[in-house]
Amino acid sequence: MKPPRFDYLVPTSLDEALDLLHRHGDEARVLAGGQSLVPLLNFRLVRPARLIDLNEVPDLDGIRVDDGWLAIGAMTRQRAVETSAPARAKCPLLAEAMPQVGHVQIRNRGTVGGSIAHADPAAELPAVVAALDGALVVRSARGERMLTAEQFFVGYFTTAIAPTELLVEVRLPIASALTGSAFLEVSRRHGDFALVGVAATVGLDEAGVCTTAALALTGVGPTPVMPRDATRALVGAKPTLAAFEDVGRRVSAFVRPESDLHASREYRKHLAGVLARRTLVLATERAVGGRAADPR
Ligand SMILES: Cc1cc2nc3c(=O)[nH]c(=O)nc-3n(C[C@H](O)[C@H](O)[C@H](O)COP(=O)(O)OP(=O)(O)OC[C@H]3O[C@@H](n4cnc5c(N)ncnc54)[C@H](O)[C@@H]3O)c2cc1C
Repeated sequence: MKPPRFDYLVPTSLDEALDLLHRHGDEARVLAGGQSLVPLLNFRLVRPARLIDLNEVPDLDGIRVDDGWLAIGAMTRQRAVETSAPARAKCPLLAEAMPQVGHVQIRNRGTVGGSIAHADPAAELPAVVAALDGALVVRSARGERMLTAEQFFVGYFTTAIAPTELLVEVRLPIASALTGSAFLEVSRRHGDFALVGVAATVGLDEAGVCTTAALALTGVGPTPVMPRDATRALVGAKPTLAAFEDVGRRVSAFVRPESDLHASREYRKHLAGVLARRTLVLATERAVGGRAADPR
């Protein structure tokens, strides 16, 4: 199939892109890496009258360490993050998740902002943002707002971005020394979207008592799923295998995945529990080892 006809607009600054969205937002789509949008156009599942190509907007690309955050411009290629030394050192969860996004050819073109704005419930990056309690910076010609993952992801492939807004930056907190993280997933073949993926973070104090614990799951609901009640029980005690097994059971009982061609609901529930336990164990080992840095 070929895409339907559209006007092709190529802004060369962020202001120009925002102005175009202000005027045409309701009938336009922005084009980032095209790895999800181009197939949607070719199958005619979306029919925008205008396509606003962000690839010539310089201000949206780059990774910087800034005031406790790793700040990533929306148009930064996924592969650029994967190979970035600051990203690997400051945000090991992101570094571990990134190579699990599709294949390298896709990551060469696909952008961080595109993956998050696309909001596929099986995608890795939305779960990373959720588990780390990151911030999503969204801008329009009228101003800027900052959203949490829970505010940003509202349903299947649906976000809180208005038609006149752009996701401009993703901010992830820099990992501290006694924090560990892990990202594990199960997919049928390497490079496929995962059946279930789990991001975990665990923070300890000097005595080894758990101060924070968070999980975010992919593939088990319309948005990244955060079983907060299950992880809350870990805080205030020294982590034990029995406690992690209990969290795994709670997660399995809590999630409400759907059956599809790739896996049954029951299998996904089982995977969610097993991966929750395993990621928590791994994250804790890394926190104990003081290996908050690069997991590879
Ligand atoms: C074979 C294959 C396998 C894949 N496997 C995986 C996988 O395992 N895990 C995974 O997470 N992804 C996977 N992907 C998707 C890939 O990560 C895409 O790169 C990503 O979903 C979209 O990023 P993009 O930059 O290509 O965005 P586009 O395709 O250009 O855009 C996607 C959507 O986001 C909107 N958009 C883009 N940027 C912005 C912005 N800054 N502000 C507001 N809206 C914006 C667009 O208008 C569009 O609606 C796969 C893709 C393919 C083709």
